[in-house]
Amino acid sequence: MKEPIGYCLQCEGPIYVGRSIKKFCNPECKDKYNNAIKIKEQQEINKVDTALRRNRRALKKLYNPKKSDLLFTREELIKAGYEFGFHTHFVITRANRHELTFCYDYGYREVVKDKYQLYPSFSKVQLKDGRIYEIT
Ligand SMILES: [Zn+2]
Repeated sequence: MKEPIGYCLQCEGPIYVGRSIKKFCNPECKDKYNNAIKIKEQQEINKVDTALRRNRRALKKLYNPKKSDLLFTREELIKAGYEFGFHTHFVITRANRHELTFCYDYGYREVVKDKYQLYPSFSKVQLKDGRIYEIT
């Protein structure tokens, strides 16, 4: 009996024909295998996306444009659903060169120990030297 040149990565069945680097016994197995990888990758991305969206909602819920200087404790942010560690980007303010942490269009800064001020996104920012700066 002829020796297989390899085994299918999907069904582990023998591969007898084709190039020696062939990884699948047929196109269906190749599709199945690649789809499974895509689904797994998407699940990982979705976990982070869900945390980011939840964080944005929490900041949006707490932010009051009429009382924009209100300070919140870490505990209050967490209670509102904020999960520290998940954010989209940092922005450096024009006036004071403070670094704000953003979740899409809402951000925060720890003003003093355990006191956070919230910010809506700035209308204009500029990427410079790998950092994002407020320009208006
Ligand atoms: Zn196969």
